[in-house]
Amino acid sequence: MRRKLAAGNWKMNGTGVALSELKALRAAHPSSPAEILICPPATLLHRAAAAVEGSEIAIGGQDCHAAVSGAHTGDLSAEMLLDAGANAVILGHSERREDHGEQNEEIRAKARAAMDAGLKAIICVGESLNQREAANTLDIIGGQMSGSIPDQATGENLIVAYEPIWAIGTGKVPTLEEIGEVHDFIRARLERRFGEGVGRSVRLLYGGSVKPSNAVEIFGVSNVDGALVGGASLKAEDFSGIIRALE
Ligand code: PEP
Repeated sequence: MRRKLAAGNWKMNGTGVALSELKALRAAHPSSPAEILICPPATLLHRAAAAVEGSEIAIGGQDCHAAVSGAHTGDLSAEMLLDAGANAVILGHSERREDHGEQNEEIRAKARAAMDAGLKAIICVGESLNQREAANTLDIIGGQMSGSIPDQATGENLIVAYEPIWAIGTGKVPTLEEIGEVHDFIRARLERRFGEGVGRSVRLLYGGSVKPSNAVEIFGVSNVDGALVGGASLKAEDFSGIIRALE
């Protein structure tokens, strides 16, 4: 049985005052059958971890470096995220692929570092609108998966997030059939590469304009084990609505 997961990506949003949203989320979900994860900006990791200590909510990072330490100004290692209270890290988000030119090989190295440090790696894959219109979606996702998922992946340390780039922050969402097609494809690829046991235990998240109003139907799609949520994770009330749809 895969535990449902609601993961919030705050991106480059939030200063200390945003911690009140975490406290409200904590109060709204004193216990939950679903796993709840918030990935705040790195500057808030430590305080966020303290704010949710002893609760059901876990904290994650939004990126990490592939090296353990060294001359990498401005970067953070997986061990540093762990030390700040994170138990997971988002890797290969399309905004990092776009803004920082991250390629599959680098994402794979980061995922290896995250897993070696004991973090869960949430590896993002997804097609652009042009790629979808050219009927290349599954080829793109397949290539991103083989390129960026390391061999040491297990059901414990890997989560795959399918995030069509054109659905992120746009209010546009693929049809339920389109989401199902990609999630079934990802599941089949994982089973083929890692065997049925591991392949079936990895959680698959959908991400892209998930809101309380569309969460229930998206979570009803086969092989959707939860969501990676951007905008609607910033306010406890909105994110709570999405978590409730998983409960
Ligand atoms: C995201 O950036 O991971 C995301 C899914 O954003 P939004 O929910 O705002 O579309």
